[in-house]
Amino acid sequence: MFYESTRGPAEPLGTAEVITAGIAPDGGLYVPRKLPELPWREWIGLDYGAVAAGVLRLFADDLPAESLAAAAAVYGDGRFGAAGPAPLVQAGPFGVLELWHGPTAAFKDMALQALPLLLSASARLTAAGREILILTATSGDTGKAALEGFRDVPGTRVCVFYPDGGVSAVQEKQMLTGGGANTFVIGVRGNFDVCQSAVKAAFTSESLRKSLAERQMLFSSANSINWGRLLPQIAYYVWAYLEAVRQGRAEAGAPVNAAVPTGNFGNILAAWYARRMGLPLGRLLCASNRNNILADFFRDGCYDTRREFYRTASPSMDILLSSNFERLLYEAGGRDGKKIRLWYAELRENGRFQVEEKVLAACRAVFTGGWTDEDACRAAIARVWRDWGYLLDPHTAVAWQMAESYRAESGDETYTIITSTASPFKFAPAVLNALTGAPPANDPWADLGALADRTGWTLPAALAGLKDKEERRDVLLAPDEIVGWIERKFA
Ligand SMILES: *Cc1c(COP(=O)(O)O)cnc(C)c1O
Repeated sequence: MFYESTRGPAEPLGTAEVITAGIAPDGGLYVPRKLPELPWREWIGLDYGAVAAGVLRLFADDLPAESLAAAAAVYGDGRFGAAGPAPLVQAGPFGVLELWHGPTAAFKDMALQALPLLLSASARLTAAGREILILTATSGDTGKAALEGFRDVPGTRVCVFYPDGGVSAVQEKQMLTGGGANTFVIGVRGNFDVCQSAVKAAFTSESLRKSLAERQMLFSSANSINWGRLLPQIAYYVWAYLEAVRQGRAEAGAPVNAAVPTGNFGNILAAWYARRMGLPLGRLLCASNRNNILADFFRDGCYDTRREFYRTASPSMDILLSSNFERLLYEAGGRDGKKIRLWYAELRENGRFQVEEKVLAACRAVFTGGWTDEDACRAAIARVWRDWGYLLDPHTAVAWQMAESYRAESGDETYTIITSTASPFKFAPAVLNALTGAPPANDPWADLGALADRTGWTLPAALAGLKDKEERRDVLLAPDEIVGWIERKFA
């Protein structure tokens, strides 16, 4: 299996090399040259770990079989709880794929529990004993999942950068507690886009790369720009489809739609890959919150960041620069690195770019964009609880609302799976507010208990006792101080 950069041309690399590198030196993202055929019919009846192992084997043909087996074993060793890593539950008209049973109560665990094993195995093949410095920008959930996954993993150090004041109280507390000797948590002044761009700049800084190399260190990423993040995510779409068939919601071979609460476009892009590999997925519903840049793009083909940035109740989707969208555009634009370079240069200079009709049509052949405002998100949480006794977190509620609107407007009755990306307890103040109409108590910890009392749902182990843990934040930086800080700290 070989990969190329979306801003190529570059030397084609194998899976181990692209997982170690994270991002291409030209600033592009690695994509597979050719996708394998997915033998999903042969996998009917397998457990989650076996499905995940099957997906990993299709791509990572350069990694030792026992490393892939070890990476897939994380889904079966109990760390995802008794219900398994990805239960598909029926809530009213929709299937809900609960991806938040891992150690940090958000879907990022689905990839970030396996990634350290994939990355360590990759580095053994390609990094010749060098230490790996993992830089990660987070809108809240990736940070904690990366810290959990990489804590005390030999040969790695992890720096997590998050927008100061741009994550929920629970998310911040999670990141600031329970770190290891190799983990660093850094607040950044500015929103997530500012934070992500600054980290990307560090990655592509030639001088920083050089001084790290002198110290026998190299960069990698735990963000979904790393192919090693997307790869394990493909598995849960395959699993979800097989579950829908097993539960009798769809005939084997019949299409199933997926509705995905979207920020950086990593989750939904994994669905696109699965579909491209032959999984019978129908339409992919790309759901945004009020930061609705993707919904606008799917309407008119203009990617326009010249707009207000909103803080919403679904902070992990408060993103205007969706990094993985570049991978879709690369495919839709005919796999032309020059085109991507032009579009992204235009974006840097003018804050926008427009794709041709043909490219937009290729995107719209699979994706439908939509968005949900704050009132409709709250209303969806309250309505779904009242009508179906099912509790949505604000991110999942955005996708639920879009799936409902899409069904009403299009008349498309295809069985639809909503990927549920976080435990409602992770966003207890917003969820409680949606249920009661009362303003949040200004005490997120009291809200956790109140939400459990009100609904009878059980607080995830990951969040119980969190309040009293000791906090550690390494430093608060302006975006332009990040490169210098890394230099001083590690190089
Ligand atoms: C990260 C995240 C998202 C967005 O996923 P992308 O892969 O970035 O599109 C949605 N919901 C939650 C809870 C998340 O943590």
